[in-house]
Amino acid sequence: MTTPTISARSPAAQAFVDGLARGVLRVQACEACSTVQSLARHACPRCGSPRLSWRNASGLGTVFALTQVRRAPTPEFRALVPYTLVLVDLDEGARVMGHAAEGLSIGDRVRAEFFEHDARPLLRFVPG
Ligand SMILES: [Zn+2]
Repeated sequence: MTTPTISARSPAAQAFVDGLARGVLRVQACEACSTVQSLARHACPRCGSPRLSWRNASGLGTVFALTQVRRAPTPEFRALVPYTLVLVDLDEGARVMGHAAEGLSIGDRVRAEFFEHDARPLLRFVPG
């Protein structure tokens, strides 16, 4: 059995995944009201417009929450455990999840980095 890729599970997020592979953090924003989306969507949750586009983000933000993962969710992640995941409030307004450098705390300023694991581009936040 193969594990579905992020793009297979969520085609709306393909631009985000493509960005990670190119070393760019992208956020989806509404062209009608400029609301930045934390998750890839098909319509703006604020105004309902289907006109959403992707923008390059600075990669800078603040740690909102973090947790340590000790049990891999899939076999592909076993080599990484234990690892830390963070929710980061980007300066652009979106909240995104990524891996994290050790030693981060809630409220720390961070910046995005990118790495590849099991042929999959992933996001990691390090002290900014
Ligand atoms: Zn909108």
